[in-house]
Amino acid sequence: MKTMEEKNAEGNVIKDEDFIQVKSLKQYFPVSGNSLLNRQYVKAVDDVSFSIRKGETLGLVGESGCGKSTLGRTLLQLYVPTGGEVIFDGQKLGDLRKKEMKSFRKRMQLIFQDPSACLNPRKTVREILMEPYRIHRVGTEKEREQKVLFLMDRVGLESYYLSRYPHEMSGGQKQRVGIARALALKPELIVCDEAVSALDVSIQAQVINLLEQLQEEFSLTYLFISHNLSIVHHISDRVAVMYLGKMVELGSDTAIYENPCHPYSQALISAIPNADCEKDKSRILLTGDVPSPVNPPSGCRFHTRCRHCREICRQEEPGLREIEPDHYVACHLFG
Ligand code: SF4
Repeated sequence: MKTMEEKNAEGNVIKDEDFIQVKSLKQYFPVSGNSLLNRQYVKAVDDVSFSIRKGETLGLVGESGCGKSTLGRTLLQLYVPTGGEVIFDGQKLGDLRKKEMKSFRKRMQLIFQDPSACLNPRKTVREILMEPYRIHRVGTEKEREQKVLFLMDRVGLESYYLSRYPHEMSGGQKQRVGIARALALKPELIVCDEAVSALDVSIQAQVINLLEQLQEEFSLTYLFISHNLSIVHHISDRVAVMYLGKMVELGSDTAIYENPCHPYSQALISAIPNADCEKDKSRILLTGDVPSPVNPPSGCRFHTRCRHCREICRQEEPGLREIEPDHYVACHLFG
């Protein structure tokens, strides 16, 4: 049970004017049991609240399996949330009917991690890029053709790639097609789900630069999900840290990278490779495995791996508290 003080502090995480407001979002997946009484759930996202401001890039970091991708997809309503709500530019997405949601989808898009898996191998690049316009009945065939040529130009692909199939292109080129498809319907929010993780390091830099250029040109807002802390540091305005389905810290890029306060964030940031050997010695090594999200630890979910764990940590779940302007931490050390 959250105290009134914690509820008020969480309320501050979201301001009325924020573009995307995520309130107490939950996403549980059933894993076993036939009846409601003995059914068990993976609590992939559990009571998460945060906001994304217009035009910003919010980085979302955490170990694999912590719920980052599920959070991004639930935010886009690709999964029906188990609880909580998402408010997009003043509109509660849960209140929209199927037809209204289809039309709303133009405003929010997803860039997938693996460009090879997300492009239809039987379709040419032209057909792949025409598809969003056909589904949403945008323009005439000639206008669509012009829009596709414009997209190809914006993502840095020559028009002769239009007749190619995905298997005839490199990973970086395929990801550019994925980005062009995400841009086709002029979205305002793009969730980049590990959008560069599957690419070679040199190509990652090109794609990151492209995403930054496009953000400026089309006034895009990004939720940038990644386990690569260096890339998130480069691209983000604010950063949110997740652990086992919970948000444990949220703040500006500078606050999280220069003054991480949650013991988990401190361990993550200390693990960023550093050429300075002295700094490298201060690395915090986390012991133990990540607990099961089916049966997460009581109290603070990080207590089984935290070197600062106290009695209260095993019993009471800490809520997000504002410890300095716009910097929130969920830890009893800051109670
Ligand atoms: Fe560690 Fe306790 Fe803070 Fe959790 S609440 S991170 S166990 S000190």
